[in-house]
Amino acid sequence: TTAPDLTLNNGVAIPQLGFGVYQVPAEDTAQVVQTALETGYRSIDTAAAYRNEAGVGEALRAAGLPREELFVTTKLWNSDHGYDATLRAFDASMAKLGLDYLDLYLIHWPLPARGTAVDTWRAFEKLYADGRVRAIGVSNFEIAHLRELLARTDIVPAVNQIELHPYLQQGDLRAFHAEHGIATEAWSPLGQGAVLGDEMIAGLADKYGKSPAQIVLRWHLQRGTVVIPKSATPSRIAENFGVFDFELATDDVAELGELDAGKRTGPDPDTFNLA
Ligand code: NAD
Repeated sequence: TTAPDLTLNNGVAIPQLGFGVYQVPAEDTAQVVQTALETGYRSIDTAAAYRNEAGVGEALRAAGLPREELFVTTKLWNSDHGYDATLRAFDASMAKLGLDYLDLYLIHWPLPARGTAVDTWRAFEKLYADGRVRAIGVSNFEIAHLRELLARTDIVPAVNQIELHPYLQQGDLRAFHAEHGIATEAWSPLGQGAVLGDEMIAGLADKYGKSPAQIVLRWHLQRGTVVIPKSATPSRIAENFGVFDFELATDDVAELGELDAGKRTGPDPDTFNLA
């Protein structure tokens, strides 16, 4: 099996289920990504800040899959905002990945207090125009940050990758994305494991004969979200990919809506400013 694709606003296809490598140690990354590729994942989500782009590249080369079957995302770190710094950081990431083009490049955080997102995005537009990346997007942008970008730049982001799980359902942002043709991608789709002990989710797991993680991933998929769960454990890597042989009833998707608590596990994008 492979994951189904969604089509981004520029026509590029993205697998709806990918594999995230945040907090995978550099020395383990090639092995973990190899396991994911063997399982069937074709989309890998890394970032300069994860310090494991080289391991991702190593696994991709070793797998010997056709380049066009792979979808690789990396992200520009906060210390590299600005037009020239962005172009340099992109080259550095590409050298580590060992790729000659990238599928998706994201601004990792908006840094509104620094006011650098627009210049940074101009560099993203240049990389896109030059054919070095197939799609450009952002991460952790709130509605106000997106509005500023839309007002002051030319290309609408293809993706906004945001914290999104049953305890933080992001209704307003998702509606804004839908209005503007921006795909929603969920980071920490499992709430870093926090939602897996939930009683309602356990009940649905029993009802469908699936694991709590599979119920949560299925909920994301049926809402049209791109998901990138992370695990370094082979059995869980496989479990998280086993979500294409069942479907949640509409009522059950709606019931999970009741779990929304507006509760973040990660930083607030309005103030997060780490260098
Ligand atoms: P996640 O919600 O994917 O949870 C991962 C954790 O959940 C694992 O470490 C493990 O402890 C547990 N887990 C995973 N599968 C399980 C299973 N089947 N059964 C039981 N427990 C399981 O959290 P994440 O890693 O934070 O997010 C996923 C990816 O999103 C990251 O790897 C990264 O690529 C991306 N991300 C992006 C940002 C950003 O700022 N853009 C921030 C955080 C994460």
